[in-house]
Amino acid sequence: MQDLLARFTGKLFVRGGLIDGGGPRLPVRNPARGEVIGEIATALPAEIDAAVADADAVFRSWSRAPARVRAEALHALGRLIRDDARSMAQVMTMEQGKPLNEARGEILKLAEACHFYAEEAVRVHGEIIPNDQPGYQSLVVREAIGVVAAITPWNYPAELVGWKLCAALAAGCPIIIKPSESTPFTALYIAEKTQQAGIPAGVVTVLTGDGPTVGQALVNHPAIPKIAFTGSSQTGLRIQQSCPAIKRLSLELGGNCALLVTRHAELGAAVQGAVRRSFRNMGQICIAINRIYVERTLYPAFLEQFAQATRALVIGDGLQHPDADVGAMALAAPLQKTRAHLEDALRKGAHLVAGGAAPAGAGFERGHFFQPTIVADCTPDMLVMKEETFGPLVGVAAFDTLDEAIARVNDSPYGLAAYAYTQDLKEIHRLAAELDVGNVAINHVDAGIMNAPYGGRKQSGIGVEHGREGLLEYFQFKHVRLRHGVEG
Ligand code: NAD
Repeated sequence: MQDLLARFTGKLFVRGGLIDGGGPRLPVRNPARGEVIGEIATALPAEIDAAVADADAVFRSWSRAPARVRAEALHALGRLIRDDARSMAQVMTMEQGKPLNEARGEILKLAEACHFYAEEAVRVHGEIIPNDQPGYQSLVVREAIGVVAAITPWNYPAELVGWKLCAALAAGCPIIIKPSESTPFTALYIAEKTQQAGIPAGVVTVLTGDGPTVGQALVNHPAIPKIAFTGSSQTGLRIQQSCPAIKRLSLELGGNCALLVTRHAELGAAVQGAVRRSFRNMGQICIAINRIYVERTLYPAFLEQFAQATRALVIGDGLQHPDADVGAMALAAPLQKTRAHLEDALRKGAHLVAGGAAPAGAGFERGHFFQPTIVADCTPDMLVMKEETFGPLVGVAAFDTLDEAIARVNDSPYGLAAYAYTQDLKEIHRLAAELDVGNVAINHVDAGIMNAPYGGRKQSGIGVEHGREGLLEYFQFKHVRLRHGVEG
Protein backbone atom coordinates (compact mmCIF):
# COMPACT_ATOMS: atom_id res chain seq x y z
CA MET A 1 0.00 0.00 0.00
CA GLN A 2 2.79 2.39 0.95
CA ASP A 3 4.50 1.59 -2.43
CA LEU A 4 1.32 2.53 -4.20
CA LEU A 5 1.12 5.85 -2.41
CA ALA A 6 4.84 6.47 -3.03
CA ARG A 7 4.05 6.44 -6.75
CA PHE A 8 1.79 9.48 -6.31
CA THR A 9 3.41 11.40 -3.49
CA GLY A 10 4.68 14.83 -4.55
CA LYS A 11 3.58 14.24 -8.15
CA LEU A 12 1.68 16.23 -10.75
CA PHE A 13 0.12 14.53 -13.77
CA VAL A 14 1.21 16.50 -16.84
CA ARG A 15 1.91 15.63 -20.49
CA GLY A 16 0.51 12.16 -19.97
CA GLY A 17 2.67 11.14 -17.01
CA LEU A 18 3.47 11.60 -13.34
CA ILE A 19 6.30 14.03 -12.67
CA ASP A 20 7.78 15.51 -9.51
CA GLY A 21 6.19 18.84 -8.67
CA GLY A 22 8.65 21.60 -7.85
CA GLY A 23 6.54 23.51 -5.33
CA PRO A 24 6.20 23.49 -1.54
CA ARG A 25 4.86 20.29 0.00
CA LEU A 26 1.67 19.73 2.00
CA PRO A 27 1.05 16.57 4.06
CA VAL A 28 -1.82 14.18 3.34
CA ARG A 29 -3.18 12.18 6.32
CA ASN A 30 -5.14 9.01 6.90
CA PRO A 31 -8.13 10.36 8.86
CA ALA A 32 -8.79 7.08 10.67
CA ARG A 33 -5.28 6.87 12.10
CA GLY A 34 -4.01 10.43 12.06
CA GLU A 35 -0.80 9.39 10.26
CA VAL A 36 0.80 11.25 7.38
CA ILE A 37 0.55 8.96 4.32
CA GLY A 38 2.23 11.16 1.75
CA GLU A 39 2.49 14.70 0.50
CA ILE A 40 1.47 16.83 -2.41
CA ALA A 41 3.42 19.45 -4.28
CA THR A 42 1.78 22.86 -4.58
CA ALA A 43 1.81 23.54 -8.32
CA LEU A 44 3.96 26.56 -9.12
CA PRO A 45 2.77 29.41 -11.38
CA ALA A 46 5.14 28.26 -14.16
CA GLU A 47 3.82 24.69 -13.87
CA ILE A 48 0.24 25.97 -14.08
CA ASP A 49 1.01 28.11 -17.15
CA ALA A 50 2.76 25.19 -18.85
CA ALA A 51 -0.15 22.84 -18.14
CA VAL A 52 -2.67 25.33 -19.54
CA ALA A 53 -0.50 25.81 -22.65
CA ASP A 54 -0.29 22.01 -23.14
CA ALA A 55 -4.06 21.68 -22.78
CA ASP A 56 -4.66 24.55 -25.18
CA ALA A 57 -2.31 22.98 -27.72
CA VAL A 58 -4.26 19.71 -27.85
CA PHE A 59 -7.73 21.26 -27.74
CA ARG A 60 -8.16 21.47 -31.51
CA SER A 61 -7.09 17.92 -32.28
CA TRP A 62 -9.00 16.38 -29.36
CA SER A 63 -12.24 18.25 -30.00
CA ARG A 64 -12.10 17.56 -33.73
CA ALA A 65 -11.29 13.88 -33.41
CA PRO A 66 -14.30 11.75 -34.40
CA ALA A 67 -16.63 11.34 -31.43
CA ARG A 68 -16.15 7.59 -31.81
CA VAL A 69 -12.45 8.00 -30.90
CA ARG A 70 -13.32 9.82 -27.68
CA ALA A 71 -16.03 7.25 -26.95
CA GLU A 72 -13.60 4.34 -27.34
CA ALA A 73 -11.11 6.06 -25.04
CA LEU A 74 -13.82 6.52 -22.40
CA HIS A 75 -14.90 2.89 -22.66
CA ALA A 76 -11.25 1.84 -22.26
CA LEU A 77 -10.93 4.13 -19.24
CA GLY A 78 -14.05 2.62 -17.67
CA ARG A 79 -12.67 -0.92 -18.09
CA LEU A 80 -9.26 0.00 -16.65
CA ILE A 81 -10.85 1.65 -13.63
CA ARG A 82 -13.21 -1.27 -13.01
CA ASP A 83 -10.37 -3.80 -13.27
CA ASP A 84 -8.26 -1.96 -10.70
CA ALA A 85 -11.15 -0.99 -8.41
CA ARG A 86 -9.83 -2.66 -5.29
CA SER A 87 -6.48 -0.97 -5.34
CA MET A 88 -8.00 2.41 -6.23
CA ALA A 89 -10.46 1.98 -3.38
CA GLN A 90 -7.62 1.32 -0.94
CA VAL A 91 -6.01 4.60 -1.90
CA MET A 92 -9.32 6.39 -1.42
CA THR A 93 -9.94 4.84 1.99
CA MET A 94 -6.41 5.72 3.08
CA GLU A 95 -6.89 9.40 2.28
CA GLN A 96 -10.64 9.86 2.87
CA GLY A 97 -11.63 7.43 5.61
CA LYS A 98 -14.75 5.82 4.14
CA PRO A 99 -15.03 2.02 4.49
CA LEU A 100 -13.25 0.09 1.76
CA ASN A 101 -16.38 -1.53 0.30
CA GLU A 102 -18.04 1.85 -0.02
CA ALA A 103 -14.90 3.28 -1.66
CA ARG A 104 -14.91 0.38 -4.11
CA GLY A 105 -18.56 1.10 -4.89
CA GLU A 106 -17.63 4.69 -5.68
CA ILE A 107 -14.83 3.57 -8.02
CA LEU A 108 -17.23 1.23 -9.84
CA LYS A 109 -19.71 4.07 -10.24
CA LEU A 110 -16.95 6.14 -11.80
CA ALA A 111 -16.38 3.30 -14.28
CA GLU A 112 -20.11 3.43 -15.11
CA ALA A 113 -19.86 7.18 -15.67
CA CYS A 114 -17.08 6.56 -18.20
CA HIS A 115 -19.32 4.17 -20.16
CA PHE A 116 -22.34 6.47 -19.92
CA TYR A 117 -20.45 9.44 -21.34
CA ALA A 118 -18.79 7.22 -23.96
CA GLU A 119 -22.29 6.44 -25.21
CA GLU A 120 -23.38 10.07 -25.04
CA ALA A 121 -20.28 11.29 -26.89
CA VAL A 122 -21.54 9.86 -30.17
CA ARG A 123 -25.01 11.36 -29.78
CA VAL A 124 -24.21 15.04 -29.75
CA HIS A 125 -26.10 16.57 -32.63
CA GLY A 126 -27.19 20.01 -33.66
CA GLU A 127 -30.49 21.30 -34.98
CA ILE A 128 -31.86 22.75 -38.19
CA ILE A 129 -34.35 25.53 -37.48
CA PRO A 130 -36.83 26.75 -40.10
CA ASN A 131 -36.65 30.46 -40.90
CA ASP A 132 -39.52 32.84 -41.62
CA GLN A 133 -37.80 34.14 -44.74
CA PRO A 134 -37.64 31.76 -47.72
CA GLY A 135 -34.09 30.91 -48.87
CA TYR A 136 -32.61 30.84 -45.37
CA GLN A 137 -31.84 28.07 -42.95
CA SER A 138 -30.49 28.14 -39.41
CA LEU A 139 -28.06 25.51 -38.21
CA VAL A 140 -27.39 25.27 -34.48
CA VAL A 141 -24.15 23.45 -33.80
CA ARG A 142 -22.48 22.55 -30.54
CA GLU A 143 -18.81 23.26 -30.13
CA ALA A 144 -16.60 22.16 -27.25
CA ILE A 145 -15.94 25.10 -24.99
CA GLY A 146 -12.16 24.72 -24.59
CA VAL A 147 -9.85 24.05 -21.65
CA VAL A 148 -11.79 23.29 -18.47
CA ALA A 149 -10.53 23.59 -14.91
CA ALA A 150 -12.19 21.14 -12.51
CA ILE A 151 -11.91 22.01 -8.82
CA THR A 152 -13.19 19.29 -6.51
CA PRO A 153 -13.80 18.53 -2.80
CA TRP A 154 -12.79 15.59 -0.62
CA ASN A 155 -16.04 13.78 0.14
CA TYR A 156 -16.30 11.80 -3.13
CA PRO A 157 -12.72 11.85 -4.42
CA ALA A 158 -13.43 9.69 -7.49
CA GLU A 159 -16.97 10.54 -8.59
CA LEU A 160 -16.71 14.30 -8.29
CA VAL A 161 -13.54 14.29 -10.37
CA GLY A 162 -15.00 11.66 -12.71
CA TRP A 163 -18.27 13.35 -13.61
CA LYS A 164 -16.35 16.38 -14.84
CA LEU A 165 -13.60 14.35 -16.47
CA CYS A 166 -15.99 12.08 -18.39
CA ALA A 167 -18.26 14.87 -19.64
CA ALA A 168 -15.28 17.04 -20.64
CA LEU A 169 -13.60 14.18 -22.49
CA ALA A 170 -16.82 13.24 -24.27
CA ALA A 171 -17.35 16.84 -25.36
CA GLY A 172 -13.76 17.25 -26.58
CA CYS A 173 -12.48 19.57 -23.84
CA PRO A 174 -9.04 19.16 -22.29
CA ILE A 175 -9.35 19.22 -18.50
CA ILE A 176 -7.07 20.39 -15.71
CA ILE A 177 -8.10 18.88 -12.38
CA LYS A 178 -7.31 20.51 -9.04
CA PRO A 179 -8.42 17.91 -6.50
CA SER A 180 -8.91 18.60 -2.83
CA GLU A 181 -5.61 18.86 -1.00
CA SER A 182 -6.96 16.20 1.41
CA THR A 183 -7.74 13.56 -1.25
CA PRO A 184 -5.30 14.13 -4.13
CA PHE A 185 -4.07 10.58 -4.70
CA THR A 186 -7.36 9.17 -6.04
CA ALA A 187 -7.31 11.91 -8.70
CA LEU A 188 -3.69 11.16 -9.66
CA TYR A 189 -4.58 7.47 -9.86
CA ILE A 190 -7.51 8.20 -12.19
CA ALA A 191 -5.27 10.40 -14.34
CA GLU A 192 -2.76 7.59 -14.69
CA LYS A 193 -5.58 5.42 -16.05
CA THR A 194 -6.36 8.02 -18.74
CA GLN A 195 -2.83 7.61 -20.06
CA GLN A 196 -3.26 3.81 -20.13
CA ALA A 197 -6.58 4.32 -21.95
CA GLY A 198 -4.71 6.06 -24.77
CA ILE A 199 -5.99 9.57 -24.09
CA PRO A 200 -3.42 11.91 -25.63
CA ALA A 201 -0.90 13.75 -23.46
CA GLY A 202 -2.12 17.20 -22.41
CA VAL A 203 -5.82 16.30 -22.55
CA VAL A 204 -5.87 15.40 -18.85
CA THR A 205 -3.77 17.18 -16.23
CA VAL A 206 -3.81 17.02 -12.44
CA LEU A 207 -2.32 19.95 -10.56
CA THR A 208 -2.23 19.57 -6.79
CA GLY A 209 -2.13 22.24 -4.12
CA ASP A 210 -4.35 24.28 -1.88
CA GLY A 211 -7.43 26.13 -3.09
CA PRO A 212 -6.47 29.77 -2.52
CA THR A 213 -3.17 29.24 -4.39
CA VAL A 214 -3.64 26.68 -7.16
CA GLY A 215 -7.45 26.66 -7.43
CA GLN A 216 -7.59 30.45 -7.54
CA ALA A 217 -4.77 30.57 -10.14
CA LEU A 218 -6.92 28.39 -12.42
CA VAL A 219 -9.96 30.59 -11.82
CA ASN A 220 -7.84 33.64 -12.69
CA HIS A 221 -6.17 32.12 -15.73
CA PRO A 222 -7.11 33.96 -18.94
CA ALA A 223 -6.77 30.85 -21.15
CA ILE A 224 -9.34 28.79 -19.20
CA PRO A 225 -12.89 29.54 -20.40
CA LYS A 226 -14.77 27.23 -18.01
CA ILE A 227 -14.57 26.36 -14.33
CA ALA A 228 -16.38 23.22 -13.15
CA PHE A 229 -16.45 23.51 -9.37
CA THR A 230 -17.86 21.31 -6.63
CA GLY A 231 -17.41 22.47 -3.05
CA SER A 232 -18.87 24.70 -0.40
CA SER A 233 -21.25 27.55 -1.18
CA GLN A 234 -18.75 29.91 0.46
CA THR A 235 -15.93 28.94 -1.93
CA GLY A 236 -18.33 28.86 -4.87
CA LEU A 237 -19.36 32.45 -4.14
CA ARG A 238 -15.72 33.47 -3.77
CA ILE A 239 -14.95 31.96 -7.17
CA GLN A 240 -17.89 33.74 -8.77
CA GLN A 241 -16.96 37.07 -7.20
CA SER A 242 -13.22 36.83 -7.85
CA CYS A 243 -13.33 35.56 -11.41
CA PRO A 244 -11.52 38.30 -13.36
CA ALA A 245 -13.12 37.60 -16.74
CA ILE A 246 -16.38 36.28 -18.17
CA LYS A 247 -16.20 32.50 -17.93
CA ARG A 248 -18.65 29.64 -17.88
CA LEU A 249 -19.06 28.54 -14.28
CA SER A 250 -20.77 25.45 -13.03
CA LEU A 251 -21.01 25.52 -9.28
CA GLU A 252 -22.20 22.40 -7.43
CA LEU A 253 -22.42 23.65 -3.86
CA GLY A 254 -23.66 22.88 -0.38
CA GLY A 255 -27.11 22.11 0.96
CA ASN A 256 -29.19 21.70 4.09
CA CYS A 257 -31.41 18.94 2.80
CA ALA A 258 -34.69 17.95 4.41
CA LEU A 259 -36.64 14.72 4.72
CA LEU A 260 -40.39 14.95 5.13
CA VAL A 261 -42.34 11.99 6.54
CA THR A 262 -46.12 12.28 6.44
CA ARG A 263 -48.64 10.13 8.28
CA HIS A 264 -49.20 8.29 4.97
CA ALA A 265 -45.61 7.02 4.89
CA GLU A 266 -44.47 3.44 5.22
CA LEU A 267 -42.70 3.90 8.52
CA GLY A 268 -40.08 1.15 8.11
CA ALA A 269 -39.01 2.42 4.69
CA ALA A 270 -38.84 6.02 5.96
CA VAL A 271 -36.64 4.99 8.90
CA GLN A 272 -34.33 2.99 6.63
CA GLY A 273 -34.04 5.93 4.23
CA ALA A 274 -33.40 8.37 7.06
CA VAL A 275 -30.53 6.27 8.41
CA ARG A 276 -28.94 5.78 5.03
CA ARG A 277 -29.07 9.37 3.82
CA SER A 278 -28.30 11.03 7.16
CA PHE A 279 -25.21 9.01 7.99
CA ARG A 280 -23.72 7.42 4.87
CA ASN A 281 -20.17 8.69 4.36
CA MET A 282 -20.53 10.14 7.89
CA GLY A 283 -23.02 12.70 6.61
CA GLN A 284 -20.31 14.19 4.40
CA ILE A 285 -22.57 14.32 1.36
CA CYS A 286 -23.92 17.47 -0.18
CA ILE A 287 -27.33 15.77 -0.41
CA ALA A 288 -27.18 14.33 3.13
CA ILE A 289 -30.34 14.66 5.19
CA ASN A 290 -29.63 17.43 7.69
CA ARG A 291 -33.16 17.95 9.06
CA ILE A 292 -36.25 15.76 9.26
CA TYR A 293 -39.89 16.83 9.62
CA VAL A 294 -42.32 14.12 10.73
CA GLU A 295 -46.10 14.45 10.94
CA ARG A 296 -47.01 14.62 14.62
CA THR A 297 -49.04 11.38 14.80
CA LEU A 298 -46.06 9.39 13.53
CA TYR A 299 -43.39 11.37 15.39
CA PRO A 300 -42.87 9.19 18.53
CA ALA A 301 -42.78 5.90 16.58
CA PHE A 302 -40.45 7.35 13.94
CA LEU A 303 -38.04 8.68 16.56
CA GLU A 304 -37.93 5.43 18.45
CA GLN A 305 -37.23 3.30 15.35
CA PHE A 306 -34.80 5.82 13.87
CA ALA A 307 -32.77 5.92 17.08
CA GLN A 308 -32.70 2.13 17.31
CA ALA A 309 -31.51 1.70 13.70
CA THR A 310 -28.91 4.44 14.10
CA ARG A 311 -27.43 2.89 17.23
CA ALA A 312 -26.99 -0.35 15.29
CA LEU A 313 -24.64 1.22 12.72
CA VAL A 314 -21.12 -0.21 12.84
CA ILE A 315 -18.30 2.34 12.96
CA GLY A 316 -14.77 1.27 12.05
CA ASP A 317 -11.41 1.95 10.45
CA GLY A 318 -12.36 1.56 6.80
CA LEU A 319 -9.29 -0.49 5.85
CA GLN A 320 -9.54 -2.90 8.77
CA HIS A 321 -13.33 -3.16 8.54
CA PRO A 322 -14.17 -2.94 4.84
CA ASP A 323 -17.87 -3.60 5.45
CA ALA A 324 -18.35 -1.13 8.33
CA ASP A 325 -21.38 1.11 7.90
CA VAL A 326 -19.36 4.27 8.53
CA GLY A 327 -15.68 5.12 8.89
CA ALA A 328 -13.78 8.12 10.16
CA MET A 329 -14.69 11.64 9.11
CA ALA A 330 -12.24 12.89 6.51
CA LEU A 331 -10.95 15.91 8.42
CA ALA A 332 -10.90 17.58 11.83
CA ALA A 333 -12.80 20.71 10.70
CA PRO A 334 -16.13 19.05 9.79
CA LEU A 335 -15.98 17.08 13.04
CA GLN A 336 -15.59 20.34 14.97
CA LYS A 337 -18.53 21.80 13.05
CA THR A 338 -20.63 18.72 13.87
CA ARG A 339 -19.84 19.13 17.57
CA ALA A 340 -20.64 22.86 17.37
CA HIS A 341 -24.03 22.20 15.71
CA LEU A 342 -24.80 19.54 18.32
CA GLU A 343 -23.93 21.84 21.23
CA ASP A 344 -25.98 24.64 19.68
CA ALA A 345 -29.04 22.38 19.31
CA LEU A 346 -28.79 21.04 22.88
CA ARG A 347 -28.31 24.55 24.28
CA LYS A 348 -31.45 25.71 22.46
CA GLY A 349 -33.56 22.86 23.87
CA ALA A 350 -33.18 19.86 21.53
CA HIS A 351 -33.13 16.37 23.03
CA LEU A 352 -30.35 13.89 22.32
CA VAL A 353 -31.87 10.69 20.98
CA ALA A 354 -28.82 8.76 19.69
CA GLY A 355 -25.04 9.22 19.61
CA GLY A 356 -23.62 12.51 20.81
CA ALA A 357 -19.98 11.55 21.39
CA ALA A 358 -16.95 9.87 19.85
CA PRO A 359 -17.06 6.07 20.05
CA ALA A 360 -14.99 4.64 22.87
CA GLY A 361 -12.38 1.91 22.63
CA ALA A 362 -9.25 0.79 20.88
CA GLY A 363 -8.94 1.93 17.29
CA PHE A 364 -10.88 5.15 17.80
CA GLU A 365 -8.29 7.17 19.75
CA ARG A 366 -6.50 8.92 16.92
CA GLY A 367 -8.99 9.17 14.08
CA HIS A 368 -11.82 11.63 13.41
CA PHE A 369 -14.54 9.30 14.67
CA PHE A 370 -17.97 10.32 15.94
CA GLN A 371 -21.17 8.41 16.61
CA PRO A 372 -24.07 9.00 14.23
CA THR A 373 -26.18 11.45 16.23
CA ILE A 374 -29.87 12.40 16.32
CA VAL A 375 -31.38 15.39 18.09
CA ALA A 376 -35.17 15.73 18.41
CA ASP A 377 -37.71 18.49 19.07
CA CYS A 378 -35.61 20.88 17.03
CA THR A 379 -36.63 24.46 16.30
CA PRO A 380 -35.90 26.52 13.16
CA ASP A 381 -33.31 28.70 14.93
CA MET A 382 -30.96 25.75 15.54
CA LEU A 383 -27.92 25.58 13.25
CA VAL A 384 -28.59 21.94 12.40
CA MET A 385 -31.97 22.96 10.93
CA LYS A 386 -30.63 25.79 8.77
CA GLU A 387 -26.93 25.32 7.98
CA GLU A 388 -25.06 22.51 6.30
CA THR A 389 -23.49 20.37 9.05
CA PHE A 390 -21.62 18.02 6.71
CA GLY A 391 -21.24 15.50 9.49
CA PRO A 392 -23.11 12.64 11.23
CA LEU A 393 -25.77 14.79 12.90
CA VAL A 394 -29.43 15.18 12.04
CA GLY A 395 -32.19 17.27 13.64
CA VAL A 396 -35.83 16.10 13.84
CA ALA A 397 -39.01 18.12 14.38
CA ALA A 398 -42.76 17.42 14.25
CA PHE A 399 -45.22 19.15 11.88
CA ASP A 400 -49.01 19.39 11.77
CA THR A 401 -49.96 20.23 8.17
CA LEU A 402 -48.37 19.58 4.80
CA ASP A 403 -48.47 23.32 4.00
CA GLU A 404 -46.40 23.99 7.11
CA ALA A 405 -43.93 21.20 6.26
CA ILE A 406 -43.41 22.36 2.67
CA ALA A 407 -42.90 25.94 3.86
CA ARG A 408 -40.26 24.78 6.35
CA VAL A 409 -38.38 22.76 3.75
CA ASN A 410 -38.39 25.69 1.32
CA ASP A 411 -37.46 28.28 3.95
CA SER A 412 -33.75 27.85 3.28
CA PRO A 413 -31.11 29.66 1.28
CA TYR A 414 -30.21 26.26 -0.18
CA GLY A 415 -32.04 24.24 -2.82
CA LEU A 416 -30.13 21.06 -3.51
CA ALA A 417 -32.27 18.02 -2.65
CA ALA A 418 -35.31 17.05 -0.59
CA TYR A 419 -36.75 13.68 0.33
CA ALA A 420 -40.26 12.62 1.25
CA TYR A 421 -42.03 9.47 2.31
CA THR A 422 -45.79 9.20 1.66
CA GLN A 423 -48.08 6.76 -0.12
CA ASP A 424 -50.75 9.42 -0.73
CA LEU A 425 -50.94 10.36 -4.40
CA LYS A 426 -52.09 13.92 -3.81
CA GLU A 427 -49.29 14.52 -1.34
CA ILE A 428 -46.77 13.02 -3.77
CA HIS A 429 -47.99 15.31 -6.51
CA ARG A 430 -47.83 18.41 -4.31
CA LEU A 431 -44.36 17.58 -3.00
CA ALA A 432 -42.95 16.93 -6.46
CA ALA A 433 -44.32 20.27 -7.65
CA GLU A 434 -43.76 22.51 -4.63
CA LEU A 435 -40.39 21.54 -3.13
CA ASP A 436 -38.02 24.25 -4.34
CA VAL A 437 -34.92 22.12 -4.90
CA GLY A 438 -33.02 20.66 -7.84
CA ASN A 439 -33.58 17.03 -6.83
CA VAL A 440 -36.65 15.46 -5.20
CA ALA A 441 -36.67 11.80 -4.12
CA ILE A 442 -39.99 10.31 -3.03
CA ASN A 443 -40.19 7.03 -1.11
CA HIS A 444 -36.42 6.47 -1.41
CA VAL A 445 -33.27 8.49 -0.76
CA ASP A 446 -31.07 7.97 -3.82
CA ALA A 447 -31.69 11.24 -5.59
CA GLY A 448 -28.96 11.05 -8.22
CA ILE A 449 -28.69 8.71 -11.20
CA MET A 450 -26.19 8.95 -14.03
CA ASN A 451 -28.71 9.58 -16.79
CA ALA A 452 -30.71 12.43 -15.26
CA PRO A 453 -29.46 15.96 -14.51
CA TYR A 454 -28.23 16.67 -11.02
CA GLY A 455 -27.78 20.21 -9.73
CA GLY A 456 -28.84 22.72 -7.11
CA ARG A 457 -30.89 25.90 -6.88
CA LYS A 458 -30.38 29.11 -4.88
CA GLN A 459 -27.12 28.98 -2.88
CA SER A 460 -26.68 25.32 -3.85
CA GLY A 461 -25.33 26.29 -7.22
CA ILE A 462 -25.72 26.74 -10.92
CA GLY A 463 -25.37 24.20 -13.71
CA VAL A 464 -25.80 20.43 -13.64
CA GLU A 465 -23.82 17.24 -13.80
CA HIS A 466 -25.00 13.82 -15.02
CA GLY A 467 -27.21 13.09 -17.98
CA ARG A 468 -27.25 14.71 -21.41
CA GLU A 469 -27.66 18.05 -19.65
CA GLY A 470 -24.38 17.53 -17.80
CA LEU A 471 -22.61 16.98 -21.11
CA LEU A 472 -24.09 20.14 -22.61
CA GLU A 473 -22.33 22.18 -19.89
CA TYR A 474 -19.11 21.56 -21.85
CA PHE A 475 -20.43 22.92 -25.13
CA GLN A 476 -21.26 26.31 -26.50
CA PHE A 477 -23.90 26.77 -29.16
CA LYS A 478 -23.18 28.38 -32.48
CA HIS A 479 -25.98 29.60 -34.73
CA VAL A 480 -25.05 29.49 -38.41
CA ARG A 481 -27.68 31.35 -40.44
CA LEU A 482 -27.28 30.27 -44.01
CA ARG A 483 -28.72 31.95 -47.07
CA HIS A 484 -28.84 29.17 -49.59
CA GLY A 485 -31.21 31.00 -51.89
CA VAL A 486 -33.56 28.09 -52.65
CA GLU A 487 -36.94 29.71 -52.32
CA GLY A 488 -39.27 27.11 -53.82
P1 NAD B 1 -14.27 23.66 -0.28
O1 NAD B 1 -15.15 24.68 -0.92
O2 NAD B 1 -13.53 24.02 0.94
O3 NAD B 1 -13.17 23.15 -1.32
C1 NAD B 1 -13.50 22.61 -2.57
C2 NAD B 1 -12.34 22.78 -3.52
O4 NAD B 1 -12.14 24.18 -3.75
C3 NAD B 1 -11.01 22.24 -2.99
O5 NAD B 1 -10.29 21.64 -4.04
C4 NAD B 1 -10.30 23.51 -2.52
O6 NAD B 1 -8.90 23.39 -2.53
C5 NAD B 1 -10.77 24.50 -3.57
N1 NAD B 1 -10.71 25.92 -3.19
C6 NAD B 1 -10.75 26.47 -1.95
N2 NAD B 1 -10.62 27.81 -2.04
C7 NAD B 1 -10.53 28.12 -3.36
C8 NAD B 1 -10.40 29.32 -4.09
N3 NAD B 1 -10.33 30.52 -3.49
N4 NAD B 1 -10.34 29.26 -5.44
C9 NAD B 1 -10.42 28.08 -6.07
N5 NAD B 1 -10.52 26.90 -5.44
C10 NAD B 1 -10.59 26.92 -4.09
O7 NAD B 1 -15.19 22.39 -0.05
P2 NAD B 1 -14.81 21.03 0.70
O8 NAD B 1 -14.75 21.30 2.16
O9 NAD B 1 -13.64 20.41 0.03
O10 NAD B 1 -16.10 20.15 0.34
C11 NAD B 1 -17.26 20.14 1.07
C12 NAD B 1 -18.32 21.00 0.39
O11 NAD B 1 -18.58 20.52 -0.93
C13 NAD B 1 -19.66 20.91 1.11
O12 NAD B 1 -20.19 22.21 1.25
C14 NAD B 1 -20.52 20.08 0.17
O13 NAD B 1 -21.90 20.31 0.27
C15 NAD B 1 -19.98 20.47 -1.16
N6 NAD B 1 -20.33 19.46 -2.15
C16 NAD B 1 -21.29 19.74 -3.10
C17 NAD B 1 -21.68 18.76 -4.02
C18 NAD B 1 -22.72 19.03 -5.06
O14 NAD B 1 -22.80 18.27 -6.03
N7 NAD B 1 -23.55 20.05 -4.93
C19 NAD B 1 -21.07 17.51 -3.98
C20 NAD B 1 -20.11 17.26 -3.00
C21 NAD B 1 -19.73 18.25 -2.10
